[in-house]
Amino acid sequence: MKLVHTAKHPTEAHLIKGMLEAEGIRSIVRGDQLYGAYGELPILPTVWILDDTLAAHADRLVIEFLRGSAAQRYRHERWTCPRCGEMLEGQFTDCWKCGTPRARPS
Ligand SMILES: [Zn+2]
Repeated sequence: MKLVHTAKHPTEAHLIKGMLEAEGIRSIVRGDQLYGAYGELPILPTVWILDDTLAAHADRLVIEFLRGSAAQRYRHERWTCPRCGEMLEGQFTDCWKCGTPRARPS
């Protein structure tokens, strides 16, 4: 077994486990049941893979997954058109006023 990710909360740990399993990598979440238990220090949930030989592949998938969810958050944020200064909602990819495309997240 190999640790592939320490999650900030159980939801994230289970999302990553689900993603890994969808890719055919058997994995487990540890520590999620202890999270936030009354009177206990919170223990961060961890995601482990059962087959160590898949570690490099799993690492890459986790990084891509985390980047993807960061990009998703970004998409829902409001943005300002760099050309005309119009405030736009996150779902717009181009300024509706002047047509300038939104800058990609770096
Ligand atoms: Zn504009």
